[in-house]
Amino acid sequence: MDLKENSSIIVIMNQNIATIRKHYSTLTDEKIRSLVGKDLLTLTPDGLQVLKEEVVKRDLPLLKSIDDAFKQEELINQLILDKCNEIRDLPCPICNSNEYKLNAIQLTTVTSLLATNVKKQLHIGCNNCLMELKQSAEDKTSLLGWWGFWGLFETSKALRINDIGAEELKLDRPSSALTTYVSELIEEKTLIARSLHNVSN
Ligand SMILES: [Zn+2]
Repeated sequence: MDLKENSSIIVIMNQNIATIRKHYSTLTDEKIRSLVGKDLLTLTPDGLQVLKEEVVKRDLPLLKSIDDAFKQEELINQLILDKCNEIRDLPCPICNSNEYKLNAIQLTTVTSLLATNVKKQLHIGCNNCLMELKQSAEDKTSLLGWWGFWGLFETSKALRINDIGAEELKLDRPSSALTTYVSELIEEKTLIARSLHNVSN
């Protein structure tokens, strides 16, 4: 990512925080109280940070709940990272090698034969296997995807998204496809545990 791209992302992030800040500043104390009373982990980290600022500014006795949510979020992020690293140490499910750490990529393949068909699939494997899969998704999409207006639109979008996924594989850390996969698994498990807890009570 070059410097210009990086600074435009920072501008978007700042705009996002400014919008949330403006929104929270218009809410009544009562509304802020009810927001804090709900599940704070459904807020984005930016949302939680701005809510904290608002609580401090209004001197509302809600700081502990927000700080607890920050701590909980930190624990969840650590859990996600630990689980990702456990997966990364497994042998590759495609070539069986354990020479390289595993990672994940979500590949989009577009075919436009009778109608434009967009297929998204998550793959977990070593970088060599994932790059081979990316190449074959790219070949198939380039050959079969671009027929018709929607095909052309979806083809260029798919090729771009697959490229971004492949760029992430070059970094020695869990890709966003892997962290999303793991966090969805954890979320699903937590929801099941919660519903079992509710049933047993
Ligand atoms: Zn492999």
